[in-house]
Amino acid sequence: MMDAGVLNTDTLLLVQICVTLLTTALLVASACYADSPPEQRWWAAGNVAASAGMVMCNVDSLPLVVHSILGYGVIAFGIGLVLRGLRVYCASTLSWTAIGIITGIALVVASYYTLAAPSLRARLCFSGFYFAILNWICAAAIARRRTWRVSGIAVAGFVLLGVALFLRGTHLLYADSADNANSMVIALSALVVPLAQVAIAFGLIFMVMWRYAERLRRLSTLDALTGALNRAGLEMQGKRTGLRAQRGGRSLAVIMIDVDFFKVINDTYGHPVGDEVLRHLARLVRLELRPNDLLARFGGEEFVLVLDGVDRAAALKVAERLRARIEYEMVEMDQLSVRYTASMGVVCSDQHDYDLIRLISAGDAAMYEAKRGGRNRVVAG
Ligand code: GH3
Ligand code: MG
Ligand code: MG
Repeated sequence: MMDAGVLNTDTLLLVQICVTLLTTALLVASACYADSPPEQRWWAAGNVAASAGMVMCNVDSLPLVVHSILGYGVIAFGIGLVLRGLRVYCASTLSWTAIGIITGIALVVASYYTLAAPSLRARLCFSGFYFAILNWICAAAIARRRTWRVSGIAVAGFVLLGVALFLRGTHLLYADSADNANSMVIALSALVVPLAQVAIAFGLIFMVMWRYAERLRRLSTLDALTGALNRAGLEMQGKRTGLRAQRGGRSLAVIMIDVDFFKVINDTYGHPVGDEVLRHLARLVRLELRPNDLLARFGGEEFVLVLDGVDRAAALKVAERLRARIEYEMVEMDQLSVRYTASMGVVCSDQHDYDLIRLISAGDAAMYEAKRGGRNRVVAG
């Protein structure tokens, strides 16, 4: 890409080429995983294209059209594909028209400075500025989500790559081309570019890994039907909630909730309606939750509500409010309106200590007492 004799002999250029190949190989390998998300494939394809473009621009023995025009177009096309992948990652996309425009601008300007007003310097300046801007657009595409812990590395990589290319363009605009060999700016950018490429490749893979980890965490701790915690999730988070309340000297209340005659609802209206009742119940209970509280689906139609900083009297009030609301509300589904009720057992750390297992079994006993007492009621343990 640079003047012959300037960086061709420079070890840094060799490093840059090696790093480009390695990061491209890394992205391609990670995209080859059978279930890789589409964005990862766009990133790999984009990197392959950009690398091919860089090779085209750097091999002087290629025909002029390839080396001085097509090469820039292919690099721009590659960055366009990477940008498309970033947009796909953010649940959006980049149209082929937009990618075509990105590529077209590079082709038109490179053609102009090759055929109409030949100038290597103008071409290199343009490519420095243009690719810098494209990299910043890539950075902005993921920075907009403000999830720095997830995408910070990739954002930094794109920004850094943009800065290095921009400085290179600025330098070429103002400096004497004879200075290039000794220029600090050129040497620095040749050092920064591979570092930024590594940051981008690792950053992109990290973003996908994070998403996988997050999905696994949800799958293993949340109930798919209601979105409440499942048993494993309750075990994990319940311990933390109990300890937090104990350390803070606050009481911890547990409300066990069980839908009355749920089997009858299933048998009368069918399982899908039963499922809707469960979702409805979870939605209602969630209205009572504060940030430190937990809702878990303990069994089929049995839920646990763990309330941090709530004493027995307050928990009874919460349970009674919930019970009344459940009794009052209708579940609407396919022109069907279904009413249901629930029985609840309320216990508190004041009587049963902070051990969640003991609290739950005491709450369960209270809940069964509510069942025996005629259902649709709240009983304190
Ligand atoms: P009780 O008033 O004594 O609580 O009676 P019940 O019918 O609610 O309790 P029972 O334990 O007899 O029945 C629970 C039923 O819940 C049986 C089971 O088929 C149903 N069930 C469990 N999980 C699900 C689910 O995910 N969806 C649906 N629709 N039904 C479920
Ligand atoms: Mg039941
Ligand atoms: Mg039950």
